[in-house]
Amino acid sequence: MQITKEFVIGGNAHFTVSNGLTYFRYQIKTSGRESLADSQGSLLVYTWHNGRRLYVGRLNEYTGVVHIGRRSRFDNNAMAFKVILWACNVLWTGRNFPPGYHAETVGRCGHCGRKLADVNQYFGPECRRISINRLSARLQEYNLAYGRC
Ligand SMILES: [Zn+2]
Repeated sequence: MQITKEFVIGGNAHFTVSNGLTYFRYQIKTSGRESLADSQGSLLVYTWHNGRRLYVGRLNEYTGVVHIGRRSRFDNNAMAFKVILWACNVLWTGRNFPPGYHAETVGRCGHCGRKLADVNQYFGPECRRISINRLSARLQEYNLAYGRC
């Protein structure tokens, strides 16, 4: 299922971006036990390389821009960085992915990261209520740390 901006900033989003030949897997999440409300619009970006999760940088959820982090092994020329920067730009500017490009969920809840019983959903039943409306979610999450799906 194609990713959306709301999914990507859901708190713990797993997805892939592909041009049909190569693909990158990403995880965009809050740090540790930090809730979405505490993240102040800055989410951690990870990618996978040879089965290992590597830190890329931070996503500004308001601008959709990804910045290379200080502890990142990547620089501005790294394909894993360029691809996520581009994919977020497509989403944040409200455009569609070009033909042949795919940015898709992997069957995990975008908020808690747990495997979904229904893979045709962005969020599981527990998290959907707090994630479907970002504004109310921000307020509610001060009292509710993480959902269970
Ligand atoms: Zn969930």
